[in-house]
Amino acid sequence: MSDLVLELTAPNGLKYSQPIGLFINNEFVKSTSGEKFATVDPATETDITNVYAASADDVDIAVKAARKALKSEPYKSLGGPGRARLLLKIADLIEQNAHTLATIECWDNGKPYLHALYADVPMVVNTLRYFAGWADKLQGDMIETTPTKLIYTIREPVGVCGQIIPWNYPILMVVWKIAPMLACGNTTVLKPAEQTPLSALFLAMLFKEAGVPPGVINILNGVGRVTGAAIASHLDIDKVAFTGSTQTGREIMKLASINLKNISLETGGKSPSLVFDDADLANAVKWTHQGIMFNAGQTCTANSRILVQEGVYEKFVEQFKEHVKNVSKIGDPFESTTYQGPQVTQAQFDRVMGYIESGKSEGATLAMGGVPHKNVNGKGFYIAPTIFTDVKDHYKIYREEVFGPFCVISSFVTEEEAITRANDTTYGLGASIFTENMKRGHRVARAIESGTVWINSSIDSDFRVPFGGVKQSGIGRELGEAGLAAYTSIKSVHVNLAD
Ligand code: ADP
Repeated sequence: MSDLVLELTAPNGLKYSQPIGLFINNEFVKSTSGEKFATVDPATETDITNVYAASADDVDIAVKAARKALKSEPYKSLGGPGRARLLLKIADLIEQNAHTLATIECWDNGKPYLHALYADVPMVVNTLRYFAGWADKLQGDMIETTPTKLIYTIREPVGVCGQIIPWNYPILMVVWKIAPMLACGNTTVLKPAEQTPLSALFLAMLFKEAGVPPGVINILNGVGRVTGAAIASHLDIDKVAFTGSTQTGREIMKLASINLKNISLETGGKSPSLVFDDADLANAVKWTHQGIMFNAGQTCTANSRILVQEGVYEKFVEQFKEHVKNVSKIGDPFESTTYQGPQVTQAQFDRVMGYIESGKSEGATLAMGGVPHKNVNGKGFYIAPTIFTDVKDHYKIYREEVFGPFCVISSFVTEEEAITRANDTTYGLGASIFTENMKRGHRVARAIESGTVWINSSIDSDFRVPFGGVKQSGIGRELGEAGLAAYTSIKSVHVNLAD
């Protein structure tokens, strides 16, 4: 093995090749400064390995490669069918390497191995195959105006993209970004989150093996304020696509304004779940639990504010607590019985513990959890599933995104009150409604300010369905046909047929 691709042995015994360099022009290289930093296993708090970190100079080199690839052979002439073949080949390679990818994801992020294998990897494969289907179906329109004019539109790639992704679903976020980017004929410089860079670098090997031409996909690990900021502010990047916190999204928007980059942002949330008196309570309990506790609560659509109508409030709280006790089994993420692994980092652990203290000091009732969970091996950033009740709408824990296995439950009286309080937030990413009355379900769905509304479920997403936020939860949509808009630009051609 070279010093840029290491032979690692994961905690489950898997031996595999792990790149640790920057991936530029289809080669792994050292950073120009030689700087590296460690990525940590959150289950044991030990370093996995050191990974190279890109400086602004490295970003510049990668952007030049991406710019050159955009207009050069073989990419230029590949066309839609050629790009579709690449996406399909990548999907096949990911399927063949599913065990390795799920292992890396589990090790570096702390999510349960079986969730990575049976949720994340299939979603990744489906997304790639879905966008492969679009690659040869990008077409413009012919627009009727006057008899002496022929007007048509051409759908062109946006150009060189900068893509900045978070640590909560590392491989999924890489693919949500690169699949539409490639389908539409762009090139990219993608930065994984510095907390979880390993799976993105492994994917880089698969992109090369699939035949993606040099320079089309460049992957640069690095810290946000250096590598991320260099991408967001680079003058030769045409578009920046970001998923992460609202605070960082705002920062990126400012940096991107330097050359008026095309922007798409998927940011934070404080998603409400509304449980009405007439809900199927067992179903509401099952989905709201999944909605907040899946992935240790580290999901941007997590239904962290549960509002329950007063007639079923007590019953819901009791059943919800019982369900959490039965289902949210904390454990080693490689154990097949584990539902909840550790938080991704010490920083996230501290953040969630800080909100627990805030909830207690503001006067909410700690109904469950609220403590670190050290029973796995005495180590790891584990936190017991935490529920606060008697939460007032002005409490920090009701208003701010926590991003942990942490929810607030509050009661409401009328449908009108539920809608007003659900919308009383700067966010608008997801919302769920539990009712057996479909007239109410559809009525409330329209009244909620949110990019996604689930009726009688929560958290589930589908590669065919647009995803994104309103208000401070984002700009633009990913997935579905709507996801193509973020990676194409429309050119209008006016042909004058007049004598
Ligand atoms: P979190 O706070 O959950 O770590 P962030 O939104 O800060 O989430 O991070 C999401 C992504 O944005 C990561 O890849 C991170 O490195 C990157 N990032 C963080 N700060 C900046 C910044 N100032 N400019 C560009 N990218 C950034």
